[in-house]
Amino acid sequence: MPKIEENTLLSKYTTWQIGGKADILVEVESAKELLATIQTAVEQNTPYTILGGGSNVLISDDGIRGVVIINKSNKITIIGGEEEIHIINDKVEETRHKEIDTEKFYTFQDLDFAESGKETIIELGSGTGLAFAIRQTLREGLSGLQWFSGIPGTVGGALFNNIHGGTHHFSEYFDSAVIYDPETNKTKTVQKEFFEFGYDDSVLRNNKGIIVLTIRLKLYKGDNKQNEHAKWTAKEWAKRKKSQPQMTCGCVFKNISEKDKQRCKLPTASAGYIIDKELGLVGKQIGNAIVSDKHANFIENIDKKATANNVMKLIELIQTKTREKLGIELETEISFLGFDEE
Ligand SMILES: Cc1cc2nc3c(=O)[nH]c(=O)nc-3n(C[C@H](O)[C@H](O)[C@H](O)COP(=O)(O)OP(=O)(O)OC[C@H]3O[C@@H](n4cnc5c(N)ncnc54)[C@H](O)[C@@H]3O)c2cc1C
Repeated sequence: MPKIEENTLLSKYTTWQIGGKADILVEVESAKELLATIQTAVEQNTPYTILGGGSNVLISDDGIRGVVIINKSNKITIIGGEEEIHIINDKVEETRHKEIDTEKFYTFQDLDFAESGKETIIELGSGTGLAFAIRQTLREGLSGLQWFSGIPGTVGGALFNNIHGGTHHFSEYFDSAVIYDPETNKTKTVQKEFFEFGYDDSVLRNNKGIIVLTIRLKLYKGDNKQNEHAKWTAKEWAKRKKSQPQMTCGCVFKNISEKDKQRCKLPTASAGYIIDKELGLVGKQIGNAIVSDKHANFIENIDKKATANNVMKLIELIQTKTREKLGIELETEISFLGFDEE
């Protein structure tokens, strides 16, 4: 049975440790419980919101109305597959990593290597922690997820934003998913095209009613040498990412387009570079929210006392200054939950 609470503070369910209360909080442990919780909410005309690891959201100080579902459905099944494949080669066009940034912007291109091997399909509950999935699949001799080592959150959250690690996007390894379809109040199996993956983007960002229940990924069953290399990469990646500030939601802004980069004659498309070098906003503080001096695209919560309002004001300041100085609209990478206009 899912765990249910009322009037629960959501700050403890986010890496930023920011956010007001949920009217009702339900913790689910399987895809079946997840579906049943959504369908019950819909039958009762109650809005529902899903949270994975809460590592890419800003939750309003007023909290979220209706049911907030904490997704802990973490079953992993190896489905198998025999087809020999080579490099999965459908990288997203506009990546943030085409160029070499300074080391502060964490591209880790030196860790990249070409993978090959037999295609193996695995199925994961969408609440599976990414770190757990990486550990388990590498243990089974399956590589692919190592690029995302050190990124917090669940595989459902990873799909929502099509996360990136170095030169790789999560969508490269995606096969299909079972979703909850709000139009029919039923489940549906969907293929890759459905998600319209882009840089830090998928169809889920524009349709928050769709909930991913289970995900199928295509990973590589390579030789021992490749697997050892992938394990080493995962460790090295996580080690380097540890230096990133933790009481944050990762990067707040998407990097700019190649076109804007060239128009403004910038050496990089990195939003962190703009905030640091062009705007000089590192260390800028509003309330207890501060632009990190370790990574300028991160906003840190000092002493767990920052409010969502503090963070919002800092985000707006950065956007205004970027518009004024460079004529660029900096887009946010994170989700805003519980605000009037999301
Ligand atoms: C220190 C740090 C480093 C980071 N580094 C990176 C990085 O290198 N690369 C990168 O891309 N990101 C990075 N991130 C951002 C973040 O970790 C990822 O976006 C992560 O995949 C979010 O997963 P989550 O489970 O925490 O999602 P949440 O924050 O819980 O949710 C994010 C959004 O997804 C929706 N959602 C969650 N689960 C589902 C589901 N099953 N179905 C439908 N919608 C769903 C939520 O409603 C919400 O709108 C970093 C964050 C931190 C704090």
